[in-house]
Order: sequence, then C-alpha cells, then structure tokens
Amino acid sequence: MASDLLNLLVDKAFRREAPTRAESLALLGESEAVIDVVAAGARVRREFFGDRVKLNTIVNMKSGLCPEDCGYCSQRLGSGAGVLKYSWITSERAAEIAGDAVRAGAKRVCLVASGRGPADRDIARIENTITAIKADHPQVEICACLGFLSDDQAERLAAAGAHAYSHNLNTAEARYADICTTHTFGDRVDTLRRATAAGLSPCSGAIFGMGESDDDIVDVALALRELDPDSVPINFLIPFDGTPLGTRWDLTPDRCLRILALFRFHFPDVEVRLAGGREIHLRSQQPLALHLANSIFLGDYLTSEGQPGADDRRMITDAGFTIEGVDDPTLPPARHDLVAIRRRGAGTALRPNA
Ligand code: SF4
Repeated sequence: MASDLLNLLVDKAFRREAPTRAESLALLGESEAVIDVVAAGARVRREFFGDRVKLNTIVNMKSGLCPEDCGYCSQRLGSGAGVLKYSWITSERAAEIAGDAVRAGAKRVCLVASGRGPADRDIARIENTITAIKADHPQVEICACLGFLSDDQAERLAAAGAHAYSHNLNTAEARYADICTTHTFGDRVDTLRRATAAGLSPCSGAIFGMGESDDDIVDVALALRELDPDSVPINFLIPFDGTPLGTRWDLTPDRCLRILALFRFHFPDVEVRLAGGREIHLRSQQPLALHLANSIFLGDYLTSEGQPGADDRRMITDAGFTIEGVDDPTLPPARHDLVAIRRRGAGTALRPNA
C-alpha cells in the first residue's frame, strides 16, 4: 500500500513538480518497499503515457578508436574491450539498418558516432544519411549523437531534418572528473544547450552503477531537469572487460527500479527511456521497469548485443503495454503546449487568447 510519501510524490508529479532532495533520497533508500515505489511511479507513467512503449534503435555510424577517455566506454582511448572498430559506414548501409528496425516497430533512429565531436564533413555524412533514411521512412524521428557540436553544426543538423540531439550528462558534476579527464560536465551542458537553441529536441540522461552515491544520483537528476530535456535515457553500466570500470557490478534489480522511479518522479511528462544495461542488471525484472519507463531501445546497443527484438516485443505485450505507433505523439499534449508558437492574436486575424 502506498505510503504518505509515495502519495505525495504522485500528486506532485501530476502537477509536474519535482521531488525535493530529501524525498528523492527516501525513494532511493530502502524505507519504502520497491514494489510500492514501482506502483506509485506506474501511476505517473500511466497518467502521461498510458500503456504506450516507444521503441528506439541505434545505428553506430563509426565505432571505437575514440580519443576521449570516458571510463565507462568500450570505445575509449586505450580500450581493451575488443569491440568492433570501423570508420564511417555509408549512408546507404545506415539507411538499410535503420529500415529493418523501423519495420520492426522503431519510431526513432539514433545515429551515433564515436569521437570528441564531428568534423564538418561528418555533418555532411549525417545529412546524407538523414536524407537516405527519410526517403523510405519520412515519418521516422532521427536523433543524432555525435559529441560536441558548434552552433553551426547544430543548425545544419536541424535543417537536414534531424529531430533530436542526444548528449548525456552521465553523472553528477562533482564526480565528472572521476569518469573522464578529457572533457568536463560543463562542456556537455554547453553542447546540449547549443542543440536545443538550434531547435533540436534535447535528449540527455545518465549512466548508473559507476560508484555514484545517492546524492550524486539526485544531483544529476536536478541538473538534467534544469536543461528541460524531452527525453532522458537511463543507462546502467555495461562493465566491459578492458575498461577502467570493467569490474563494477554494483547494481541490483531493486536499485535499478528505484533509480528509474526517481527519474519518473523528476520527469513525469518526459520520455524516460530504459537504455543500455537493462538486460544484464534488471534481468527477470525488466517487465516491471516498463511500468516506469515509457521508452526502450530495440535491438543492439553501440558495441554490445541486446535482447532479441522479438523477445522485447513479446515482453511489452505480455506486460500489458502496446508499441507506440508512428502517428502517436510521444510527449503528452500539455508538454507540447508549453512551447506552442502563437498563431492567434496580434499579427493574425484570430481573436487573442483571453
Ligand atoms: S563516450 Fe563517446 S566521447 Fe566518451 S570515450 Fe566513448 S565514444 Fe568517446
């Protein structure tokens, strides 16, 4: 049965009000039974997203050999993870891979490339890839995830038809230097702001299981909320052998569910995406996570394999959910209204809103 705290958090979420730090820490602690936490988060998820699950797919355009040193990443400088390493795949090959996923139900295609950031010629490759994908699937949402962007590059991606830009904050600002020394938390915030200013839908989340404290988790949730993302991917560390965090297996299904619930309460009407690491850390409890997240990745991740797509689709229907169709808006209407462009009143023939 829901406690006073959980009822309070549900009411606040319905009003789009974030939990306080103390409330957030209580959710992550063990005073509330995890099943009650999930049930409370599920009320919020259903209020804003009904029974829909959005499917996203990743196309890794360029893999490995990154000069950055993110400790969680199998593509980092000096990685011994033995992952696939290749330079840019062609636009045609990317469109072929994307097309398979779209036909299997994916609504968003994430075009990802390793590296600090794209050169201008790389933006041209992505422009061509967007054109190639949209030729067969004009309705698909394309998200680019290419590292640090200049203003001009962000504008070019938007003009080419990219819908979103993804750039995770990854962890709390206070411990960013523990996971990466080649760039800063502030660099990441800057790029996300540039992408948003160019009209790209901001997508930014984090990775858990890297030794962070409960306070760190709350810090990154609050920092993300300030950036007002439209989608928030929640990753659970995939500990690759040959990376600095390769021996960290800290997470339990209980911990993952509490983290997901925390983000649902902080982002009640935002796409919360269950991302990398769900299979290995949630294991048999994955269906419970669908009661909190309204979006998942279909198929494989950047450098590791995911659960077979058919198993994901079966899991979704078995748990009582439906796959979001291309014509269904992901975000609830009230959220769109927050940024509605005025088309009435002054400068139009229509009556003002009064
Ligand atoms: S996360 Fe991105 S920037 Fe960091 S090492 Fe991996 S590919 Fe490079």
